[in-house]
Amino acid sequence: KLYNQVQDLKGSIRVYCRVRPFLSGQSNDLSTVHSIEDGNITISTASKHGKGCKSFSFNKVFEPCATQAEVFSDMQPLIRSVLDGYNVCIFAYGQTGSGKTYTMTGPKDLSEKNKGVNYRALGDLFLLAEQRKDIFCYNVAVQMIEIYNEQVRDLLVTDGSNKRLEIRNSSQTGLNVPDANIIPVSSTYDVIDLMNLGHRNRAVGATALNDRSSRSHSCLTVHVQGRDLASGTILRGCMHLVDLAGSERVNKSEVTGDRLKEAQHINRSLSALGDVIASLAQKNPHVPYRNSKLTQLLQDSLGGQAKTLMFVHISPEPDALGETISTLKFAERVA
Ligand code: ADP
Ligand code: MG
Repeated sequence: KLYNQVQDLKGSIRVYCRVRPFLSGQSNDLSTVHSIEDGNITISTASKHGKGCKSFSFNKVFEPCATQAEVFSDMQPLIRSVLDGYNVCIFAYGQTGSGKTYTMTGPKDLSEKNKGVNYRALGDLFLLAEQRKDIFCYNVAVQMIEIYNEQVRDLLVTDGSNKRLEIRNSSQTGLNVPDANIIPVSSTYDVIDLMNLGHRNRAVGATALNDRSSRSHSCLTVHVQGRDLASGTILRGCMHLVDLAGSERVNKSEVTGDRLKEAQHINRSLSALGDVIASLAQKNPHVPYRNSKLTQLLQDSLGGQAKTLMFVHISPEPDALGETISTLKFAERVA
């Protein structure tokens, strides 16, 4: 409770940044990250044109050596506020390969230690619900959807159906995609099964050349309903955990056809998201939610009493410098 009051005073949008470690045992001396101190990160922009540095500040910056547990522990209070009836939105933003899926889900060989935010968040909700069981009776249910080329698809289907779904903002049920399966869960085992199903479905339609997961947004939505056992009052909270499509700009002269269309959809929806969060951060009375499927989907979890965490990811390699700077600029706009 106290946490919520303190955060409300500071505003409800936070921005974190995580730097991926080098993957192939390359030396960190090559990193474009010059230094990290508290919430500040300095990027060295040195090139053949000369030396230079650029600094950015966020609520928190994680070093390449930060563990999954450390990252999660900083998000924990936010996640726990869902049980108090808050709506929460967490986005992973960054170019393909910068570590978004690693943060949200984890690597392919999932161990207890390297599990990502999604698993930990649900585990934590179950644990807390159990601790409060003399006061509240909680029900937790999840949906998992994908937005690809501005089309919404259910990832929790078992019959291979591939129906396009509509977004309808229903404040009554709290379900924005009422036709997507909503599955009650009561243990982390249930969650692991569902996420595996979701990931298998997400891979459908991907070819070797076309890794769809980097070109679509995936959203795990956790609906929590708590009944106060004494008064009968119902509390509803909802959390969206979003692994966004890669933010890299494509060279228009190099791609055509489907690939160009995908890129344009991604561009448009990521800028729509940036515009929404920036208008909320500036307390602008008009918030342009209608400009993309993504912002329509998340409308009731962005702004108002809702809490938002934009988690940007950067790659340390020199050849990613251009994308690194544009990612940090995107994030700075809302920080
Ligand atoms: P994205 O989802 O942004 O495209 P991934 O999460 O798939 O990127 O990460 C790309 C690669 O880097 C994967 O092999 C992943 O396991 C690895 N990776 C990303 N972040 C980390 C990290 N913090 N520590 C170790 N390996 C990481
Ligand atoms: Mg990914």
